[in-house]
This record gives sequence, structure tokens and C-alpha cells, in this order.
Amino acid sequence: MKITIVGTGYVGLVTGACFSEMGNTVYCIDIDDGKVEDLKNGKIPIFEPGLEELVSKNIESGNLFFSTELSIGLNNSNICFIAVGTPMGEDGSADMQYVLEAAREIGQLISHDLIVVNKSTVPVGTADMVKEVIKSEMAVRSVEFKVEVVSNPEFLKEGAAVSDFMRPDRVVIGSDDEDVIETMKELYSPFTINHERFITMDVRSAEMTKYASNAMLATRISFMNEMANICERVGADVNFVREGIGSDRRIGYSFLYPGCGYGGSCFPKDVKALIKTAQDNGYESTILKGVESVNEKQKFSIVTKIIKRFGEDLQGKTFALWGLAFKPETDDMREAASVVIIKSLIELGAKIKSYDPKAMDAAKEYYFADNPNISFYNNKYDVVEDVDALILVTEWKEFRSPDFDKIKEMIGKRIIFDGRNQYNKNILEKMGFEYYQIGNYG
Ligand code: NAD
Repeated sequence: MKITIVGTGYVGLVTGACFSEMGNTVYCIDIDDGKVEDLKNGKIPIFEPGLEELVSKNIESGNLFFSTELSIGLNNSNICFIAVGTPMGEDGSADMQYVLEAAREIGQLISHDLIVVNKSTVPVGTADMVKEVIKSEMAVRSVEFKVEVVSNPEFLKEGAAVSDFMRPDRVVIGSDDEDVIETMKELYSPFTINHERFITMDVRSAEMTKYASNAMLATRISFMNEMANICERVGADVNFVREGIGSDRRIGYSFLYPGCGYGGSCFPKDVKALIKTAQDNGYESTILKGVESVNEKQKFSIVTKIIKRFGEDLQGKTFALWGLAFKPETDDMREAASVVIIKSLIELGAKIKSYDPKAMDAAKEYYFADNPNISFYNNKYDVVEDVDALILVTEWKEFRSPDFDKIKEMIGKRIIFDGRNQYNKNILEKMGFEYYQIGNYG
């Protein structure tokens, strides 16, 4: 098939690369000409395992094209995906300006019947709105083509985006047009060999499914963080509690890890947007508001432990911090817990020595430019030298089994604050470390 993708960010680029890998011809369009130039040369703007190879391979085989000209894509395809950003607006709702601009551009350029597929995460009712915008632009040009707007929410995870797209748990398609559903089924058939993974429904339910899915995952995280906070106060260990409840098949183990809060480009904004959608429709979402407020507080949990241990004045103290990205295997720092932790500690007078395998450029450029109180190192051990404590924020694999003998010799005070419960308390305490976790009575 021949496909255009409007918006070549995380989602658009992965979608384009994966569809081209299956033999489709894909035109990835973006308004950022610097990004497009880089992509034409196979240079990708994000870190995502396996993506660079996939992009280079498909540019070479002539299946994948990049351009700033939407007309080049539209003239050559009959399916057009919208995968532009829907950031958080000032009032918490999804900012729809990029989606609506993409729809306007499609309406201004469309020259034949088209299936428009909305992959951006958008509030219920957006497909109808996009159709209206395209129709009114066509009316201005006095042309009329058949346009069907489909909802196809994306569930990929940053850090595993290519493998998630290639082997999705499910593909959700929202449309009431049988022919369109057939076309989408064919397009996705290489990824959904088992047909139960291809789920069709009406457009509004598909739009809602994406928000409900992220809200559920965020709820599990906040629920577990709340359990951890109660455990700390009653002398229980949340690590045992997690095992105890996760073994119930109705509950399961996924997304039950306590920590220092969720972040990223999706959960925080999508939970907020759903709260706002509910409000706009006369419903107060008590659970989601709780999920959000638990998460905001949880980002301070490590700081609270540090204050309890060192006092409120951290002048003269230096902390080593492992992990800046909002989660492992990504360079994305949007809404990362590390930002809240670092800013709070610096405000209290501390200095930070930090290391992250992939996110240091983003940290330097967007969050801590010219801040003299944070320094960046190229090695996880170098940051530990002579510090007052080590703080683990992002559980990259390389932090899972570090050489504690080496750390013991290098570190100033043998203290570790673990924001992701990665280490064995007994072993570390036997080695002479003071070790603090989330949700543990110690
Ligand atoms: P992103 O910010 O990485 O990329 C968006 C891209 O769209 C940018 O490159 C921007 O330049 C481009 N753009 C904006 N307006 C344009 C226009 N008119 N024409 C062409 N290009 C345009 O965003 P993302 O992370 O890929 O997210 C896209 C959507 O997918 C969002 O709604 C997001 O919520 C959703 N989503 C994201 C993820 C994720 O993990 N990142 C997962 C699932 C769903």
C-alpha cells in the first residue's frame, strides 16, 4: 500500500519505518526541515532500539521517503495517518492545534478519495472534527472527495517502540465503514497474524480506549505507590506485598512496581486530559484525580528520605544521581522524576553529579542548561567518587548489578537511596551500606 504519515516524531517515525519494512511505500512528512534533512540521511533524532537500522534499510530499498511537502505524500497515497503531537494545554486538556492544522492541510491538498487515520492521542469526538475541517477546506476549493476518518490509537512504549509496533498486543480500529475496516485489516495483517489482536469498534470508543488504557496503567502505578507509602508507615515491605498480590492471576505482576513516580510524554498529559474531558461532560473523576495527586507527591519521596537523613540544609552536600530519562531505554526526559528530584535538592543547597546512558544531552539542553550545581559524567562510577550518597532514579540495565565493592571504595558516605527498589537490602547492609528503598520499613 501507499501511505502518508503527517508528523515524524516517536510515533510517526516508528509507524512509517515499520510499515515500510513490510513492503509498503511510506512518505513521512514533518514541518521541521532540520529533522527531515537528517532523516533523509538516515540520521534519526531520537534514541529508540532498532529504529535507526530499520530507517536506513528502508530508505535504501526505496520504501521510505521523508519530506516537508505534504502534497508529495498525498498525491501518491490513499491512506494518510495523522501522528502529530497533542501536548498538554494550559487548562489540562489536549492541545489540538497540530491535529487541526494537519487536517486543514489535508483538506487544502487532497486530490482523490482518502482514508485519514488518526494515530495521535485525541479526545473523543476528534475524528468527527477532523472530518469537518477537511470537508470545509474542500468546500473552499469547490472539490469533493470521499474522506473517511478512522481512529487507530497507538499503544507502543518508548524504549521498545519498534518491537511493540511489530508485535502489538492488539490493533484497535474505530470506524463504521466496512470497506475501510477491510483496508486497515489488510494493512495491519503482517502485524496481527492472530486475528483476535485486531479489534474493531466505533470511532468514539476507539478514541476513549487509548485514554482508558493509559489511565489504567497510571492507576496501577499510583495504587502501588500508595501501598508503598502505607507499608513504610506500618512496618511492612512493599516488595513482599507486590509478590503476594501479583501472584493472583486476576491482578498479575505488570505495572505493580513502586517507585518515585511515573513521567514521560503520555501518562501525565493523558490522565490530565481525561480528567478534563470528564469535567467538560459534567463528571468529576475522583479516581484519576487521586492517581495524579499521588504521583505528584511520589516524585518527592526520595527527597523526603534525603531530608530525613541529612536535614533540610544540604549546603556542602553532593549527591550522585544515576538515571535522568523518565524510564530506561529512552532519551526522553519529559515529566521525568529526575527533574523534580534534582531541582529540589539543588534548592536545598546540594550539588549533583549525574550520569545517564542516553538522556544527558536532553538534560543539558532543555532542563539544566548553564546550571553550575549539576555536572554530567560519562561513566556511572565516576559520579560516585566522594559523594554523600548515591541516588538511583532510572533503572537502566547497567545500574541493576553494579560493582558495589568498587562503589564502597569510591563513595564518600556509604549511603544509597534507591527510587526503583532494584537492590537487595540484606546484601547491601551486610556490605556496610545504609540503604533506603520505596515502601520499605528500613
Ligand atoms: P512528537 O512530538 O515526538 O512528534 C510530533 C511531530 O509532529 C513533530 O516532529 C512535529 O514537528 C510534527 N508536526 C507537527 N505539526 C505538523 C504538521 N502540521 N505537519 C507535519 N508534521 C507536523 O510526538 P509523539 O511522541 O510522536 O506523539 C504523537 C502522538 O502520539 C501524540 O498524540 C501522543 O500522545 C501519541 N502517542 C505517543 C506515544 C509515545 O510514546 N511517544 C505513544 C502512543 C501515542
